[in-house]
Amino acid sequence: MNRPYGRFFLPGPVEVRPEVLAAQLQPMTGHRGPDVQAFIGELQAGLKDAFRTERPVFIVPCSGTGLMEAAIRNGASNRVLSLVNGAFSKRFSSIASQCGLEVDEVSIPWGEAHDPDQVSTALSVRKYDAVTVAHSETSTGVLNDLQMLSGIVHQHEETLLLVDSVSGAAGAELQTDLWGLDFVLTGGQKAFSVPPGVSFGVASSSMIERAKEVGGRGYYFDLVRYFENIEKLQTPTTPPLSTLFALQVQLRLMAKETMEGRWARHQEMAERTWAWVEEMASLGIQLKVVAAEGHRSPTVTAIQVPDGVSAPSIVDAVKDRGWVIGGGYGKLKPTTFRIGHMGEHTEDALEGLLSVLAEILS
Ligand SMILES: *Cc1c(COP(=O)(O)O)cnc(C)c1O
Repeated sequence: MNRPYGRFFLPGPVEVRPEVLAAQLQPMTGHRGPDVQAFIGELQAGLKDAFRTERPVFIVPCSGTGLMEAAIRNGASNRVLSLVNGAFSKRFSSIASQCGLEVDEVSIPWGEAHDPDQVSTALSVRKYDAVTVAHSETSTGVLNDLQMLSGIVHQHEETLLLVDSVSGAAGAELQTDLWGLDFVLTGGQKAFSVPPGVSFGVASSSMIERAKEVGGRGYYFDLVRYFENIEKLQTPTTPPLSTLFALQVQLRLMAKETMEGRWARHQEMAERTWAWVEEMASLGIQLKVVAAEGHRSPTVTAIQVPDGVSAPSIVDAVKDRGWVIGGGYGKLKPTTFRIGHMGEHTEDALEGLLSVLAEILS
């Protein structure tokens, strides 16, 4: 694969910087002992900054879905309310069902963000152990308002808010402590821009207390064990060392940019993409951003193609020209494509992609 750097706009995994990829070539080390504790300590500092938390950040060898399952198995033992507005938030709901919990859904049209009154009403009907939500719903490009949702959920003392921020963290503003989020999980291969294979999670003290009470939370994803280990700068099992070598270099680069700088860069790329859709529409090419205005994710945009056009054929045509974008996800596959403007991309590179797309569409 001789693709030049900067042309890979999949909404995960994302383009990884060459120096970050190269960091994986370091020789192995044992995963216990003072050297490794210093190494994990450095990673903790960068990860805490990304999540905006004083709590330890779990480093778990799995993809994002693994920590979605961990969220459910540690955060609930009875009934869960799942906020569903796309394929990934639906997956959260399905995981809860598959883990044997009672699940109710607040299900809204794909492309919309959750509404405070509707969620508040649902919570007033029954007692829930937890509410699940996708921060940035990668199938539609919708961003849910976590601060607002947290305020509503926490009017109910026993209810925890479990957040899938797989395509949010390190790209969209995320304030774990300030917003009072009980569990936030992400995968390294999205806006964090490291190779796949590692995920990160932050649990509030209520989440850890809950986990201790939940029977049968299992072994591999037992967050109490993760918590006890990370306090000693250790991991319960062998960490994905090569991916963590990459993460170390990536976190240093992220510290240079600052998290605020990173959020702003993502927002600019997203706004440029939305403006381009408008430009195309004004030229008679009827593209449409799937996500409702005012509720759009800074990391990914799903774009609906004109009637009669096949979205997969556009994805293929882009590929033929040496660039990569994402196909539509789930039921949106035939009618949408997705641009993952997340990770290390710049507006310049994005401009290159948009002109390729414009050429194909016209
Ligand atoms: C990518 C993604 C997932 C799934 O992550 P995997 O790492 O593939 O398991 C879950 N939720 C959201 C919002 C995602 O974008």
